[in-house]
Amino acid sequence: AVVVGRRVRRRRTWKRAVVVLEELDQGCGAEVGRLRQVVDAMAVEMHAGLASEGGSKLKMLLTFVDSFLNGSEKGTYYALDLGSTNFRVLRVQLGGNSSALLEHEVERKPIPQHLMTSTSEDLFDFIASSLNEFVEKEGDPELSSVKRRELGFTFSFPVKQTSVSSGILIKWTKGFSIENLVGKDVSECLEQAMSKRGLDMRVAALVNDTVGTLALGHYHDEDTVAAVIIGTGTNACYLERADAIIKSQGLLTTSGGMVINMEWGNFWSTHLPRTSYDVDLDADSPNPNDQSFEKMISGMYLGDIVRRVILRMSQESDVFGPVSSRLSVPFILRTPLMVAMHEDDSPDLREVARILNDVLEIPDVPLKVRKLVVNVCDVVTRRAARLAAAGIVGILKKIGRDGSGGVTSARIKTGSQSKIRRTVVAIEGGLYTSYSMFREYLNEAVAEILGEEVSPHVILKVTEDGSGIGAALVAASNSSPSVDSVQ
Ligand code: BGC
Ligand code: MG
Repeated sequence: AVVVGRRVRRRRTWKRAVVVLEELDQGCGAEVGRLRQVVDAMAVEMHAGLASEGGSKLKMLLTFVDSFLNGSEKGTYYALDLGSTNFRVLRVQLGGNSSALLEHEVERKPIPQHLMTSTSEDLFDFIASSLNEFVEKEGDPELSSVKRRELGFTFSFPVKQTSVSSGILIKWTKGFSIENLVGKDVSECLEQAMSKRGLDMRVAALVNDTVGTLALGHYHDEDTVAAVIIGTGTNACYLERADAIIKSQGLLTTSGGMVINMEWGNFWSTHLPRTSYDVDLDADSPNPNDQSFEKMISGMYLGDIVRRVILRMSQESDVFGPVSSRLSVPFILRTPLMVAMHEDDSPDLREVARILNDVLEIPDVPLKVRKLVVNVCDVVTRRAARLAAAGIVGILKKIGRDGSGGVTSARIKTGSQSKIRRTVVAIEGGLYTSYSMFREYLNEAVAEILGEEVSPHVILKVTEDGSGIGAALVAASNSSPSVDSVQ
């Protein structure tokens, strides 16, 4: 009887762990019908955000980028890319013809953790000094004789632009929090720090990382109409017609279009498949009720969702033995660790066991429980990728490239025939570029939503280093005519 009793109890507790997984799976449900609702909601919110200031949680920010390089630009331009755990300095050489991008050089540096929450002066002094070092290393005498250098500044946070080269920080995201920069002009702060260091550089363009990515994507392929970042944070931008930007009617001098920085990380809809884990993660975050879409999709958060699920499993069953105190440490299971568990293809899931043991201090996890953990990673990743896919199709819908408008803008007429237009979306960010399961789930969902007639004409293209190189390109097309850049 004792033996039977124990067996029954053990079975029940295993079952409880499985129920936690099943409930997660249901809560994260992102089947194509639901994704279509998210697509529609995204397109509706885009309209609302363009109609009036504050009309939607989607800010739909003006960028003042209304044209891209025409290929005649020549010279050396610099870029500074700030917005996640690493920051990058780049030098880009343009040759003045259609194959103008001659070469570029990149230097990456991790941002010291304490600077992410210090003061604006500390952060910008660190950046300016790194930039100074980069410039000083230039051996080329021709380069070092140049007085004033032109810089594209990629600043990957929500900014209310006042021109193509200036703008005010609206709020921080992704764990940055430097209160005395909110409300200030970020280009001005950078220029002050540079001049303190004796560095004569002008910020010729201030761009979001999505905008840099679109600029480079468009440079390589003129059919590129939108750009998406899925990395530490997530966001998208796209080329909008000027007359559709109702909230700034009359203010825009451009007759063509303008790139709109959507700040889609802040998107919200009741159609989003939200679980209690998301609610808790949001409540514990430094920015509750903010960036809800981002918190379900991006690299900053996915690992922490998984941690929360494992914690619940551990509390409600004994499959992980006694509850490890490590499971209550926020962000201890970083997304790269989650990816490593998800991608573990060893027959005994050795990597999963190692991470559970080393990082979460849960030893001796049996194989079938390791499999449970891999399933959790899979459910969380799949939902993230599919929601991002719905976001992308939402943009295509807004600009009439999703095929839903029938024979109109998604098609071009050639003689008596009409064919579907080719549409390219530039993508950057580690989750998409280095996480193959995420990429596959995303691509699959885009194809599923668009259907087999339209989806072959929509191309998602990885645009490496786009955020930085693209910023230099925008700087080049906005460089001041009076100051000659290096020729
Ligand atoms: C920021 C965006 C940025 C995105 C990707 C988000 O947290 O708000 O401005 O484009 O991260 O880096
Ligand atoms: Mg980045």
